Amino acid sequence: MSLIVQKFGGTSVGTIEKIQNVAKKVAGFRDQGHDVVVAVSAMSGETNRLIGMANEMQDQPDPREMDVLVSTGEQVTIALLCMALKNIGYDARSYTGGQVSIVTDSSHTKARIQEIDDKKIHDDLDAGRVVVVAGFQGVDESGNITTLGRGGSDTTGVALAAALGADECQIYTDVDGVYTTDPRVVARAQRLEQITFEEMLEMASLGSKVLQIRAVEFAGKYKVPLRVLSTFKEGPGTLITLDEEDSTMEQPVVSGIAFNRDEAKVSVLGVPEAPGVAAQILSAVGDANIEIDVIVQNTSADKKTNDLTFTVNRTELSKAQAIVEKIAADLNAASVDVDDSITKVSVVGVGMRSHAGVASKMFKALADEGINIQMISTSEIKISVIIDERYLELAVRALHTSFGLDKEAEA
Ligand code: ADP
Ligand code: ASP
Ligand code: MG
Repeated sequence: MSLIVQKFGGTSVGTIEKIQNVAKKVAGFRDQGHDVVVAVSAMSGETNRLIGMANEMQDQPDPREMDVLVSTGEQVTIALLCMALKNIGYDARSYTGGQVSIVTDSSHTKARIQEIDDKKIHDDLDAGRVVVVAGFQGVDESGNITTLGRGGSDTTGVALAAALGADECQIYTDVDGVYTTDPRVVARAQRLEQITFEEMLEMASLGSKVLQIRAVEFAGKYKVPLRVLSTFKEGPGTLITLDEEDSTMEQPVVSGIAFNRDEAKVSVLGVPEAPGVAAQILSAVGDANIEIDVIVQNTSADKKTNDLTFTVNRTELSKAQAIVEKIAADLNAASVDVDDSITKVSVVGVGMRSHAGVASKMFKALADEGINIQMISTSEIKISVIIDERYLELAVRALHTSFGLDKEAEA
């Protein structure tokens, strides 16, 4: 007998019938003698609907009230799933994040989990119940409701698994595993039997929303065995492995292609070429809790001024722009330009460490399609480029093919 934490995403619980299907799945694991804790998302579309209403009410919705609003989606699902379980004869109890003391910091709409009190959950499990916890939400130390950022139910699942010392955390979704790239964009993408934490971390941070990045971070930190599986189709899914050595397969140089449609670019042109200027601009943006992604600085030909360009999430563009415009005025900069029609495409692979030539191959594949590269950023196991969003699909397909990731056409 083992303790399993299962997380079901929005499309898996999108209708009453689908919730009944999830109840049957959970019941199957109970029948095998396992203890089961379930984390669920809001029914598909619900979180977007709630955010839409907030945006109608306020240009910049109040973050605290936004969390009170969007956390309601998950509360609906936990209750319905417990009803469905009871209908088929399985005892179950639902809890909001606050009720099982999922304590987070106070960064509304992107809070981080700090601790979970597992006592109540263990008591219920000991009493033979399935425990169903609302994903995506917690409470801060003062009891304010917080949420964990889009896709945050994954992190609830993994954090519960870590706190409870679960034997496995299973993330059930609408695809049957982690693919070489989003299978909805590239039909010839292939499911990976396994992927290293390091690669999964890069894929998630570079935009592959199949797992929220914090979920992967948590799983790596607390060594939670993590698997991504389909709710609708039987199969082994994809195991996220701890060590590169775990891998039985020969490592390809590039394991996957990730992309992020949510990027926007801010350029501050003609800032003085002097120590501390970049720090002044970027720390003001960072202090506003806006995450900065790719950064490029170019010096003018006369070496007197610099152009500083960086990217942020599109939802934070107007906030970043306002901050930067103020500093740019103080610095006497020439202008501030913004562009919200860019995307980031990245190739990821631990095999890159031992192989040269990945960047040139990537740039050539893009050039062959006539795609212009606006910015470049690299790390040991990834190369990212910023391109015009119009070419995103084309770029992803071209890279998928040129790095040999396409599935063979089925006979
Ligand atoms: P859930 O609601 O279950 O959390 P998400 O929509 O958040 O599901 O994540 C699953 C989706 O992630 C898939 O439907 C797929 O379109 C997308 N996705 C992006 N990149 C990948 C990838 N590399 N492998 C698998 N799915 C991916
Ligand atoms: N319901 C939240 C979202 O749509 C959390 C999640 O589904 O993981 O982002
Ligand atoms: Mg998700």
